[in-house]
Amino acid sequence: MNEQNLQSVAFPTLDETQVTKLARCTQAELKLFRDGQTLFAAGDRNLNFFIVKSGEVAIVDFSGDTPKSLTIHRQGQFTGDVSHLTGLPAVVSGVARGDCEVYEVTGDALRGALNQCPAISDIILQAFIARRQLLRDSPDFTGLRVIGSRYSADTFRVRDFLSKNRVLFRWLDVETDPQVDQLLKQFGLTESDTPVVAFGSTQPLHNPSNRELADAIGIHQPLEALVYDLVIVGAGPSGLAAAVYGASEGLRTAVLEDTAPGGQAGSSMRIENYLGFPLGLTGSDLAGRAILQANKFGVHLSVPTPVNRLSFENAYTVVHMEGGETVTAKCLLIATGADYRHLGVEGSDRFAGTGVYYAATLAEAQLCSGSQVVVVGGGNSAGQAAVFLAGHARRVLIMIRGDDLHKNMSSYLARRIEQTPNIELLRNTTIRRMNGDTHLGSVDIVNSQTGEERTVETPGVFSFIGADPRTNWLPPEIERDAKGFVRTGADLAQSRYWTAARQPFLLETSRPSVFAAGDVRAGSVKRVASAVGEGAMAVQFVHECLKHM
Ligand SMILES: Cc1cc2nc3c(=O)[nH]c(=O)nc-3n(C[C@H](O)[C@H](O)[C@H](O)COP(=O)(O)OP(=O)(O)OC[C@H]3O[C@@H](n4cnc5c(N)ncnc54)[C@H](O)[C@@H]3O)c2cc1C
Repeated sequence: MNEQNLQSVAFPTLDETQVTKLARCTQAELKLFRDGQTLFAAGDRNLNFFIVKSGEVAIVDFSGDTPKSLTIHRQGQFTGDVSHLTGLPAVVSGVARGDCEVYEVTGDALRGALNQCPAISDIILQAFIARRQLLRDSPDFTGLRVIGSRYSADTFRVRDFLSKNRVLFRWLDVETDPQVDQLLKQFGLTESDTPVVAFGSTQPLHNPSNRELADAIGIHQPLEALVYDLVIVGAGPSGLAAAVYGASEGLRTAVLEDTAPGGQAGSSMRIENYLGFPLGLTGSDLAGRAILQANKFGVHLSVPTPVNRLSFENAYTVVHMEGGETVTAKCLLIATGADYRHLGVEGSDRFAGTGVYYAATLAEAQLCSGSQVVVVGGGNSAGQAAVFLAGHARRVLIMIRGDDLHKNMSSYLARRIEQTPNIELLRNTTIRRMNGDTHLGSVDIVNSQTGEERTVETPGVFSFIGADPRTNWLPPEIERDAKGFVRTGADLAQSRYWTAARQPFLLETSRPSVFAAGDVRAGSVKRVASAVGEGAMAVQFVHECLKHM
């Protein structure tokens, strides 16, 4: 969508009939705000939604050094963005410009209307999505500021965490950004305090943990003290699909996610084989849309919430989270997917986050622009990474252990790699050692056929050598295969942990009412579409289980 179209989708004007209908179905209250009065402020949660009847509401960004007016809403226009659905804090403020009359709608009433009035719901939802995109691209919006070095693993962790959670932020690189000295001085800090996360002129955070950061910026939402019909562990494609189907079918549903919604797919810059998206889409887009959908139906999504243990009380499952919190579930879905395999060569752990990366998104690409980078692996994820990085790096070397790129990679990707001039394929090649001081400088590589060794200068190695299931937190009651993937299905009727009189459902584990879906499940197809399909299918079995509880 071009900028002009995006603007018109982001800021539509409702006609009088639409305004009246929306005001009526949300039981909106008509209110008068005087010039300069605040309707809502950045940081507010569960904020109200406003439709302008007369006058003007300015949307102002207070996160930079001086307040900036980003847009003005006039008669028939409305405030708000995706935070109405996610329940996360507002990132901008709404201030009356002159006296204005507005219809004020509570967050709950708005969510109800979005589910009940499809015609107006489409206009509002599209506007919310488009506004986020405009804000993300706007040079006038500051948002959070992350000040840190490209060579710092903690700076990378903070940036990675924020971008995976779709938080709007600006990164100021200590190595190159001319504003850094002045800003640090302003906060009374020095370079040794970095990474620093700042919002406006409030006291900045120094090297916060992911959880501290999530608490400070309001993206961590505590769980409610109730028994959920369905608790899902993991918010990759399978967990998010189950969340959307569960909540839309009336189940009290919670999703607990370790780092950020999206899972492995969230680190793909181009998924081209997902049905219905002929132009492909980024994993982050797919996850962003799924999160909105899940929130629209009232899913409780808790991030960052690593689950480290399960216990069982009668028919229910108790889910234990890091920090000691627990939540009880009538049915549980294990959707924890798989995790990248570490490279395991000399230096690879030392340079994790400062030269060795297990994903290739814009966050990593920014660190390597104009340089030579190395991609390790011969599967589709390595192929996608190589093609994406070729658009940012000067040269990409893709290394495979065997000699046939077509063996494990889809042929459309393998052909694209062969046709991209700045990608070079190194067959029969592995990395022997990584070299550098505070950050990666070069790697020693060896050809297994010829024995030839050489050193390649590079600031970035991107590894995609397969993944292992994330199941080490599961108790023995959940049976796994020799590789650690969760077993499901009828065979488990023979398990010593199976206690029900009926046969296990297709996606049910050895413990009744505990299910598994997606990459974590033994025998699953490791693809986005199949993970989504399994997540949706699991909900059908959850309904069957609940009928007998
Ligand atoms: C770079 C890359 C590109 C890819 N491209 C494609 C593609 O183009 N097409 C395609 O079909 N497939 C692609 N895949 C494969 C696809 O992404 C996976 O098959 C899919 O993501 C699996 O979904 P899932 O929900 O089962 O698991 P995952 O995506 O692995 O998600 C699991 C989630 O669970 C969370 N989690 C794990 N442990 C815990 C815990 N203890 N507590 C709480 N949360 C936890 C994780 O943080 C993660 O968010 C790609 C994979 C990668 C890595």
